[in-house]
Amino acid sequence: MIEEEISYPVINKEICKGCMRCIVGCPQNAILLSEDMNNAGYQFAYYSGNGCTGCKDCYFTCPEPLGLEVHQIKNITNNSIAKMIKAKVASKGGIK
Ligand code: SF4
Ligand code: SF4
Repeated sequence: MIEEEISYPVINKEICKGCMRCIVGCPQNAILLSEDMNNAGYQFAYYSGNGCTGCKDCYFTCPEPLGLEVHQIKNITNNSIAKMIKAKVASKGGIK
């Protein structure tokens, strides 16, 4: 069995105000600012899809309640479900 941990931020783009605190605070430079705007007219942060170590610095620096979560999946095996999760994280910047 292969054990591993996958961590990634999940950003609610409709709550995000684009303050960039999470972007500046991420030691892995794993969060970026979209050129698009959300429904409130703010550019929003999104996960690049790579590099998150699960440190949670972004979570603790975000001033918007429910704006950002850090998900961590532990002890998954290298099976088809694990591959699906990794593909979703890489392609969509987090699982919605
Ligand atoms: S948990 Fe840490 S490494 Fe992952 S995106 Fe947030 S600040 Fe960056
Ligand atoms: S800290 Fe929160 S509100 Fe600010 S850009 Fe990041 S997700 Fe958006």
